[in-house]
Order: sequence, then structure tokens, then C-alpha cells
Amino acid sequence: MPDCIIVGGGVIGLLTARQLFLQGVDVLLLEKGPLGGESSWAGGGIISPLYPWRYADSVNVLAERSKKIYPQLVKTLFDESGVDSELLHSGLFTVSDNLPQITGWAKKWSIESRFVDDAAQIREIEPAAGRAVDRGLWMPDVMQVRNPKFVKALKASFQHLAIPYKEQLAVDEIIVKNNRIQGVRSGDETILAERVIIASGAWSAQFAVTGQSVKVNPVKGQMIMYKGEPGLLKRIVLSEGHYVIPRKDGRILAGSTLEDIGFDKAISTRAHEELHQAAVELIPLLEDLPVERQWAGLRPGTEKGIPYICPHDEVEGLYIHAGHFRNGIVLGAASVELMVDLVLGRTPWCDAAPYTMQAQH
Ligand SMILES: Cc1cc2nc3c(=O)[nH]c(=O)nc-3n(C[C@H](O)[C@H](O)[C@H](O)COP(=O)(O)OP(=O)(O)OC[C@H]3O[C@@H](n4cnc5c(N)ncnc54)[C@H](O)[C@@H]3O)c2cc1C
Repeated sequence: MPDCIIVGGGVIGLLTARQLFLQGVDVLLLEKGPLGGESSWAGGGIISPLYPWRYADSVNVLAERSKKIYPQLVKTLFDESGVDSELLHSGLFTVSDNLPQITGWAKKWSIESRFVDDAAQIREIEPAAGRAVDRGLWMPDVMQVRNPKFVKALKASFQHLAIPYKEQLAVDEIIVKNNRIQGVRSGDETILAERVIIASGAWSAQFAVTGQSVKVNPVKGQMIMYKGEPGLLKRIVLSEGHYVIPRKDGRILAGSTLEDIGFDKAISTRAHEELHQAAVELIPLLEDLPVERQWAGLRPGTEKGIPYICPHDEVEGLYIHAGHFRNGIVLGAASVELMVDLVLGRTPWCDAAPYTMQAQH
């Protein structure tokens, strides 16, 4: 009987299980598909929220902590697994002119950034930028990881450390008796545990224990990927919700759509056109590159993008770690630290109030 079952093997479940295991907790992670096969595979891997100044402090505090954790985490995973998560210091250029709000945010969080509206300076930062990139905020310290590589490194770390997990095993029910967790049921099998953590991404609302489920809904995001050469694009460039991301091997991602249409992962020509048009406007050379692949993922959406990182209000031994919406990678590393503090009964490293069920409902 494990001490703690983690339901869901996306980055949030994987990082939570790994960290608890390293703290001596007897964990078991259960995943209905392959590990890291959903949103955590599909994302862009930018280690910064898009337009962070639009978010609450409770999002920024996690983002800033995560940024400090990632370089060492990626190195440790590489040492354990031999898989390179491709952490790149690409920097992020955001086309924007909302100066007062941005300046206040950058000062508050001590973000290395500068406003640039000189064409020559912009070309120096990103030689491939098109005319639409005419002013904005340059943040040289923004990093990225390559999602499929990052989840592969996490899986290999599980194997290296012998962290217990099962793939292709869907949890059908979370078993509760007298407001105390008993374990989970999958088909005919019951697995008992002292504690259960719901880390089921966009699917987290399926577990309506005590009649109350979390408010997490799927928000589809589509991406396209160009086959390019290394050096064609150097920086992540963002404008009006559309962005381009250069990968280490020269591939270039362009994302992403925001579609509130339920559990549907179909890709569409309309999204392809929208993403391609926006990408070419930012980086004209993309006009001539072949689109190699298109895909969709389901983000775990919450109203304000603030995740649940909390014990369940009514069920002892049940925890929720879900709803990271557009920022599961950038918030994930720090979010896990908070979840682990809560599970182990330690003083939380940050104020836990904004991430409770009460705060969200
Ligand atoms: C197009 C796109 C671009 C993105 N770009 C970025 C970005 O640049 N930066 C960033 O920080 N974030 C980004 N995100 C968001 C980020 O990918 C997500 O916030 C993050 O992956 C959520 O992780 P998760 O583990 O909660 O969810 P998931 O990765 O979806 O994992 C949840 C897991 O739970 C499993 N599961 C569900 N129900 C059950 C069950 N009953 N039993 C067992 N297992 C179950 C699922 O199969 C799934 O594997 C992007 C997302 C998308 C789609």
C-alpha cells in the first residue's frame, strides 16, 4: 500500500511524485495513457507566462521561483537520465506598448528587461524579425525547454530512481469514507492509500468527491512546427497571443490557438492558416519553410490562470494539484515545492491561500 497515489502523469504529476519520492514518501503514480502524453507534451515550454504583467502576484511568485529552479532541475534530470531537455536561454521579445503596466511589473519582480522601439536595435536582437515587430519589451533571461524531451527526461528519471508508476491505468473513482480518503478504484482493482493527489490536468473535474469538483476545464491549443535550420530564428517572439519559438535543432514552433470547445483534440486547417499567417507577420522567412507537423493539446483551464495547490476542503488525505492553464511548465517546478510542503505538513515556502479551493470558488 503506497503512502500517496498521484493521479495523472503530466509534468505536474511527474514532478510531484518525483519530489515526494525524494523526500522519502512511498508514492505510486497512475496515468491513463503514456506518461506526459497530453498537454505537457504539446506545449511550447516557455519558462515565462505570456504577458506576465496581466497576472496576479500568486502566478508571478510561482513563475519567479520556478525560473530559479529550472537550470539545476534540467541538469539533474540529464545526469539521471542522459536525456537533454534542451533548456535554451532564447530570451523573449514581446511586441507591446503598454509601458506603465510593464515597467511597474518589471521593477516589482526585478526582471531584466528593456523597452526597444529602434528598428536597428530590434534587428540586432532578432535579425529575422519582420516589420510588425516594431516596438516592445526585450527580456533576455527568458528560457525554454522542449516539452517532449522534458517529459522523456522525467520518465527516464523515474526509471533511474525506481519511482513506482503505472501507465495505461485510468482511475475511475476516488474512494472516500467518512470524509477520509481510502484510495482509488480502476476497473475492478482497488488501490488503498493514505493520501491521493489529483494531478489530472484538464480532466481533474471528473472526480466529484463529496459532490464538489474543481473548476478546471479543457482549453484547446493548436501549434504548428516548421522544419528550419539552426540559427534562422534566435529569439522567442510574441505578439497578440501568437508566438514563435526556435528549437535547438532549427525547428520553429508557432502557437497557439485558445479554443473553449471541450475534450476535442482535432486539428483544423483554420488554425493552421491563423497560426501561419501570424507567424509570417512576425518572422517573414517562415513563408518559405515547410510546416512539418500540427498538433493540439488540452490545457487545464482555470478562470484566472491560478492553479489549485491545496488539500481538499472536506476530504482528509485528498489533495488537488491542477489547473495551471497556460503556464504548467513555468509554474510547475515551484508549484510542486508548495504541494510537497503541504503534503508533508511543513511550513509552506509561500502564502498558500490563493491556491485553495475556497479562493477559487
Ligand atoms: C499549445 C500549448 C502551448 C503551451 N505552452 C506553454 C508554455 O509555453 N509554457 C508553459 O508553462 N505552459 C504551456 N502550456 C501549458 C502546459 O502545457 C500545461 O499547463 C501543463 O502541461 C499542465 O500539466 P498537467 O500535468 O497538469 O496536465 P497534463 O499534461 O494534461 O497531464 C494530466 C495527465 O492526467 C492524466 N489523466 C487524466 N485523467 C486520468 C485518470 N482518470 N486516471 C489516470 N490519469 C489521468 C492524463 O492522461 C494526462 O496525462 C501550453 C499548453 C498547450 C496546449
